[in-house]
Amino acid sequence: MKSFEESALHPEIIHAIQDMGFETPTEVQSKTIPFILEHTQDLIALAQTGTGKTAAFGLPLMSQTDIENAVPQTLIICPTRELCLQIEKDLQHFCAYLPIKTVAVYGGASIDIQLKALRKGVHFVVATPGRLVDIIKRKRINLSEVENVVLDESDEMLNMGFQEDIDFILEQTPKNKRTLLFSATMPSNVRRIANKYMNKPEEITVGSKNAGADTVSHHVYMVHSKDRYIALKRIADFYPDIYGIVFCRTRQETKDVAEKLMGDGYNADTLHGDLSQAQRDYVMKKFRAKSLNMLVATDVAARGLDVHSLTHVINYSLPDDVEAYTHRSGRTGRAGKEGISIAIINLREKGKLRQIEKNLQKSFDHKQVPHGKEICHVQLMNLISKINDADVSIDKIGNLYDTLLESFEHLSKEELIQKFISFEFNRLLEYYENAPDINVSGNARSDDRDRSKKGERGRGHDRGERGERAPKQSMRNDNYTRFFINIGKKNGIDKSGLLRILNQHVNDRDVHYGAIDILKSFSFFEVESDNIAKITSSFAKAEHNGTPISVEKAQSPQGKANRGSKNDFIKGDDFWKQKRKKNKPYEQTAKRRKRR
Ligand code: AMP
Repeated sequence: MKSFEESALHPEIIHAIQDMGFETPTEVQSKTIPFILEHTQDLIALAQTGTGKTAAFGLPLMSQTDIENAVPQTLIICPTRELCLQIEKDLQHFCAYLPIKTVAVYGGASIDIQLKALRKGVHFVVATPGRLVDIIKRKRINLSEVENVVLDESDEMLNMGFQEDIDFILEQTPKNKRTLLFSATMPSNVRRIANKYMNKPEEITVGSKNAGADTVSHHVYMVHSKDRYIALKRIADFYPDIYGIVFCRTRQETKDVAEKLMGDGYNADTLHGDLSQAQRDYVMKKFRAKSLNMLVATDVAARGLDVHSLTHVINYSLPDDVEAYTHRSGRTGRAGKEGISIAIINLREKGKLRQIEKNLQKSFDHKQVPHGKEICHVQLMNLISKINDADVSIDKIGNLYDTLLESFEHLSKEELIQKFISFEFNRLLEYYENAPDINVSGNARSDDRDRSKKGERGRGHDRGERGERAPKQSMRNDNYTRFFINIGKKNGIDKSGLLRILNQHVNDRDVHYGAIDILKSFSFFEVESDNIAKITSSFAKAEHNGTPISVEKAQSPQGKANRGSKNDFIKGDDFWKQKRKKNKPYEQTAKRRKRR
C-alpha cells in the first residue's frame, strides 16, 4: 500500500487523517492495513514504539466498525494509563467525521464515569488490563459482540506482570474473535500468549526482530562510575537543545540524579514510583510543554509515556534486562525524526554493552565525553545562532531604544560583542577552565596509569592476577568514606588480603573501594559513600580466623587513639590531609561555582 487513498479505508477516515497531516503510510501501516482489511486471520506485528502502530490497527478496525451497533466491537489493551489515553485520543481523531464512540478505561481514575460511558454505548474500548478485569468481574461490559482484541505493547504488558489479567480477559471474549498482537520484541512470554490464544497468526515484522529503530544512533561514553554524573552534565551541556529522558535503575538513583541536576540549574525533574498520580501528571505536563529539558525516570515510571520529539535518551545506568534497552532507545527517533540513545558506562559494563549490541543488531559509536573547550564552543555557537534567528521587534521597546543606543554609544562593535559574550559565558568558561578528561579507554590498566601520571583524580579499579578487584592508589575524596577495621599486619593480612575479605563479606561487584592502608594491628579502607550502610551490615557478625571483625567509620585521631598504634594512625591521617590539599577534588570546586 503506497498511499492511504489507494487503500480500502473508509473515505471519512482518510479525510480525518489528511487533517492530521498523515501523507504516506509508515512501514507498519502499509503492511498491516491491507492485511486487516482483507483477512479475518489473527495477526502478530513486531514493530518498535513510535512507528505508527496506533493507526496501523486503528484505521482499518474503525473502517470495519458497524456504526449502527453501539456495543464494544474492538477491545484495545495496553500497559499504562498514559498510553491508554493517547490511543483513545488518536482514535477520536481518526473518526472525527464518523459517529464512532470510544472510551478509555484505566486505573487511578473514577470507575463510575467510565462505567457511565460504557452504559451509553461505545464501539471501541481502550483499556489497561487491571481496570478491564475489574469491570468484567462487575459484569458491566458486554463482551459478547467483541470482534477484535488488540494487545498493544504486549511485551511491556507481560513485563509489568499483567499475564494473569490478559489470560482472564482473553478467556472472557468470544472464541471467534480476531486477535491482533503488537509488540516491539518477541520474548517467550509473548510467544506463549500467541501460541495459547491465537489461531495460525500471520506474522509481520517491521525492521528486524528486536532491532532498534533505524532513526536512532547509539552512542556510548566510558567513564569511571564516580564520574557518571559529571559525564551526564557534560553531555547535557554539549547538546544545548537536549529534550530527553535520563533512565536510572532505581528510584533512589532517579531522585539523586534529578536533585543534583536541579541543584546545578538544569531544567530537570523526576518520574518514579513514589509519586502520586497528581504529581506524575504535573511533571508530565511540564515535560510535554518542554519547560523541562530532562526527565529522570525509572523504566517502570516511563512506561507508556508518549512524547514524540525526544532528541535523546540517556542510559545513566544500563537496564538489567538487555531488551529494556530497545524500549528505552525506541522513545527517541520517532515519527521519522532522528534521535540519539546514549549509554554512560564503566569498564565492567562492556560485556553488557556487547549483549545489547547483539540484541539490537547495531553497534554503538564510542564517543569521548566532551571536554570543556568543546562544550564552550558548542554553547557559544548555539547562542550566536539564536541571536541571529531572533525576531527583532524594536517598536515594542519604544522610547527605550534611544536610551539603549546612548548607553552603549561609547563601545565599539567589537567591545560590545566582547562584553556581551563575557557576560553570558564567563561562568561557563570558568566552570570548565580546568575540567579534567574523564574518559576511560577500553584498557583499564593503561588508562589508569595515564591518569595517575597526570595527577588527575582517578579512582579506577583493575583486576589482579587472580581476577579480584584491587584498588588503585587514590587521593582521598569526599565521595568516599574511610572505614576502620580491627585487623592489620599482625593478623597476617596485606592489601589484597583485606580486599579479599571485603569482597567475601560484602559480596557486591558494584561496591567500589578506594585507598587501603594496612597498619600494625588495624587498617583503613575507603568505600564509595553510597555504600556505608552496606559495609556496616555486611560485617555485623563477621570473623577473621576466629577473631570477631569490627568495622566502623573512621573517627578523628583523638577518638581512636586507644586502638593500636597511635603514631601509625596519626601518621596515616596527616598523609591524607596533605594529599587532599594538593588534589582538591574537582566536584568541590565545581559545586561552589554553581552556574545558570
Ligand atoms: P504511534 O506509534 O502510533 O504512537 O505513532 C507515533 C507518531 O507518529 C504519532 O504522533 C502519530 O500521530 C504519528 N504518525 C503515525 N502515522 C503517521 C503517518 N502515516 N504520517 C505521519 N505521522 C504519523
